[in-house]
Amino acid sequence: MAYRWVTANSVWLEEEHNRFELEAGRDLVRIDWPAARHRLPDVAELLGAALPAGCAHAAIYPEGFAFCPDCGAPLRTTPARHLPSWWGATTANLAADDHPLPRHVPHGLPQTALPLAAALETRPPEPARGQAELKIPAPPNAVCVFAAATFGFAVQRLLALAYTRNVLQYWDPHAQRWDVLAPEEGTADLRFDGSQYAWLPIVQPARRGEVALVPSEQGLYRLVIDPIGATFRTEPILEVPLVASPGAVGRRIACLVVSGAHYARTVRLWTAAPDGADPEALDIASLAPDVPVPTAGWARPYSYDNQLCWLHEEGQLLWRPGSAPRWQPWPFPWQPRLQCGGPTRSRDGRLWLLGHDGAAYSLRELGTEGPGQVEPIDSVRLGFGTLLFRRGHQVKDDPWAAPDVEDQNREDAYVLPLLETVGAARSQPSGLVLRIEGFTGRAEAALSGEVLPRTVIEWVGQRNVILDDVARLKNPADCVPFVYDGKLWLHHPSWNAIRGWHLKEQA
Ligand SMILES: [Zn+2]
Repeated sequence: MAYRWVTANSVWLEEEHNRFELEAGRDLVRIDWPAARHRLPDVAELLGAALPAGCAHAAIYPEGFAFCPDCGAPLRTTPARHLPSWWGATTANLAADDHPLPRHVPHGLPQTALPLAAALETRPPEPARGQAELKIPAPPNAVCVFAAATFGFAVQRLLALAYTRNVLQYWDPHAQRWDVLAPEEGTADLRFDGSQYAWLPIVQPARRGEVALVPSEQGLYRLVIDPIGATFRTEPILEVPLVASPGAVGRRIACLVVSGAHYARTVRLWTAAPDGADPEALDIASLAPDVPVPTAGWARPYSYDNQLCWLHEEGQLLWRPGSAPRWQPWPFPWQPRLQCGGPTRSRDGRLWLLGHDGAAYSLRELGTEGPGQVEPIDSVRLGFGTLLFRRGHQVKDDPWAAPDVEDQNREDAYVLPLLETVGAARSQPSGLVLRIEGFTGRAEAALSGEVLPRTVIEWVGQRNVILDDVARLKNPADCVPFVYDGKLWLHHPSWNAIRGWHLKEQA
């Protein structure tokens, strides 16, 4: 006769001979045990369940079991530990446990408040040459964004969403393999590549499996995974075509949508509470009605000073909750260089964007009512936030200030920042960069398909640490850094493996 065990998250059925089967899990569909059998270690960890260690009386035991009820042998359980969520550049408000960015910096740039420097700077400083300490295979669909979080389960897991192909990939750390999750019936197509990709994490999910609010060409959806059944589904928030990734500011989320028939398509700003309640579609006020609001090509948004901003080759779109969104084309002939980084911050707290007026480079003030102040500079600068470089030299003062020249040999290098660490008492801007060596061409060429003979993956901080190097890299800005399982990882769509470095000292 079967016996029922009811735990906080699930109901288990005990069959004859102490065989346990999960009958129902909160927020989960019924488990297909024959399909899950071959990946029990992963399933047990997700559920917080126990596995046999010294006997073979059952294949899996319910949560909370420490000993086999048949023979008393101790069971293998997963110790609970909190690993902060990783979401890369996001405007969402992260939970206090997830190392949220401080309020005085823009949100949505590739910045993190995770304490990376303390671990990385214990390695031998340059000129010592390090190498990646870990490698995992690249996901089969390699153009992707990553998320590492518990998604409401008992352990942290890693997802890679291939947003150009509508493929959601799940890393099974026990099998050391990427599994493609299957869409359940009625799931929306998650392709979104007309503008730069950004998803909005669901922080502290109310249900198991909730991942993020994701943009798609059909609308905005809540993405929910079932890693036990290896499936995913979507729940609609808004079913209108999106033209730019969603962002969050204060207590509102917002995205840019198109409405109207073919001959009268107009871009509007849609906004709602984070759960989709209280929606509104707002008309966009234009400072130059002869330059229509673009329907593609938007950078992912950032928020700063209670304003949400989307940048574009043709202008900036600014929105402060409670007022009308504004479209401000760049004054002719100035054009931004969005590929060189993003907004940089001056000492007085204003944001600036690199651009060129046909004669020279300059930095233009962002987010103002008028055209903004312009600061001329003598040559291109790469970076965002306060991590900025002029060729091989770091600019540590205002973005237009002269760089620190520590080594004249660095004139034939470019440094491309990938991730800045923010917060704590850092005396100088620090983060993960690529040092492109022996390249004398233009920065724009280095970033757009030229073969780079040698690129160094480097941590720049109180000590500079060479983490690895790469021969013949192309499109260096396609590198995606992320933190998962207490390690820093770096992915590039052309690499076979993701490179990793421990963030705790090895015992
Ligand atoms: Zn036993």
